Amino acid sequence: MRVLVLGAGVIGVTSAWYLTRAGHEVTLVDRQPDPGLETSRANGGQISAGHAEPWASPDVIPKVLRWLGREDAPLLFRPRADWAQWEWGLRFLRECLPGRFERNTRNLAGLALHSRDCLKALRAETGIEYDQVTRGILQFCVDEAEFEAVSRHAQAMNRYGIRREVKSAPECLAIEPALGRAATPVVGGVFTPEDESGDAHKFTQRLARLAVERGAVFLGGASVEAVESAGDRIVAARLSGAKAQRVEADAFVVALGSYSPQLLRPLGIRIPVYPLKGYSITIPLSARAAEIAPTISLSDEAGKVVISRLGDRLRAAGTAELNGYDLQVNAVRCASILERVKGLFPGIADEAQVEPWAGLRPATPTNAPAVGRTRYSNLFLNTGHGTLGWTLACGSGRAIAEIVSGRPPGVDFAFT
Ligand SMILES: Cc1cc2nc3c(=O)[nH]c(=O)nc-3n(C[C@H](O)[C@H](O)[C@H](O)COP(=O)(O)OP(=O)(O)OC[C@H]3O[C@@H](n4cnc5c(N)ncnc54)[C@H](O)[C@@H]3O)c2cc1C
Repeated sequence: MRVLVLGAGVIGVTSAWYLTRAGHEVTLVDRQPDPGLETSRANGGQISAGHAEPWASPDVIPKVLRWLGREDAPLLFRPRADWAQWEWGLRFLRECLPGRFERNTRNLAGLALHSRDCLKALRAETGIEYDQVTRGILQFCVDEAEFEAVSRHAQAMNRYGIRREVKSAPECLAIEPALGRAATPVVGGVFTPEDESGDAHKFTQRLARLAVERGAVFLGGASVEAVESAGDRIVAARLSGAKAQRVEADAFVVALGSYSPQLLRPLGIRIPVYPLKGYSITIPLSARAAEIAPTISLSDEAGKVVISRLGDRLRAAGTAELNGYDLQVNAVRCASILERVKGLFPGIADEAQVEPWAGLRPATPTNAPAVGRTRYSNLFLNTGHGTLGWTLACGSGRAIAEIVSGRPPGVDFAFT
């Protein structure tokens, strides 16, 4: 079958890879010259299946109220005259209800654990390298009350098949000695030994190359303007830019990240995806800084920052801002991430070298992506992966390839 995959972020590329592997004739389209140049460019790097739970939870409401009006708040709502933003916010609040949190957690856990296994299998099959670290993720606390809360929560997560190990302060330092120099001492944490980290951008570009070696075609610099329908089928996509053309195919997969709703709306398909802006900083490590930098991926519970070692760089990412499609880098928010890193690993950052970045997470109120069929028989979705796109990429890419091929995806997840 000829399959057109629209969007070459980590989600479109994994879709293209598994579709090519399943024997389809795949064309992958992106407006950027190369794959992985938008939200998949500089994320937090975590494959955090052990922490794949929705942000919308009963605990989050008091925290959001506490953060209101703070420019450096981890979660910030900037009100706009945009109904989609308000609708998303209200639906997010509804998903904080305990019953909904429970259902969403179960749903995400199924896909996330499957996805981590798919990534391991893909790595074993292809030998792909992307500065991966496969020694787990440590979520650490610097406050006793917080430690107690995350420990209680770790027990509760067992029922979803998610194994979190509660660790004392000395155990945390044995796992990551670099934390021993933190300005505020670590009091304990939770370790997920099977989690991983790595550079999503390197992975996306290298996997796209492997897909091309296996016969896929990459059309970069081609903007998807619209898709044409006839009855219950999509017949072609219209591309503009240097590669302007009309491309016909037998099946179409939408993986345009935060921009998916715009393409789908004229077809009468509405998905609750809204951009949730986040920031990261990347610090190149000198030989001396490399010695004091952490070697495994960390989640800082108090600062709401994730930190990943990517070879000779350190990436720290966090914050969420509901502020439309604005992609400007906010200096205050990046400075707050940098201050946090400097407090944890004194002496690490040569500020002149720090590379700030902003990206738009394609977020749904439930945190679960829209993967599967639509009312058009040959139009498929793989989008809306929000805070967990890197974590869920291989599982959803593989699942969509199965669905397009007419086979059951074999994963415990609520597909569309
Ligand atoms: C600060 C931050 C930290 C994060 N940390 C993590 C983490 O640690 N772990 C994790 O699992 N996830 C994390 N994420 C989330 C993850 O990065 C995203 O969920 C993921 O990158 C989304 O991938 P995507 O392919 O759906 O979107 P994108 O990477 O944005 O890909 C969509 C592609 O579609 C293309 N496109 C859009 N519109 C058009 C058009 N009209 N025509 C042609 N092409 C088009 C774009 O150019 C883009 O390449 C983080 C995100 C942010 C912002």
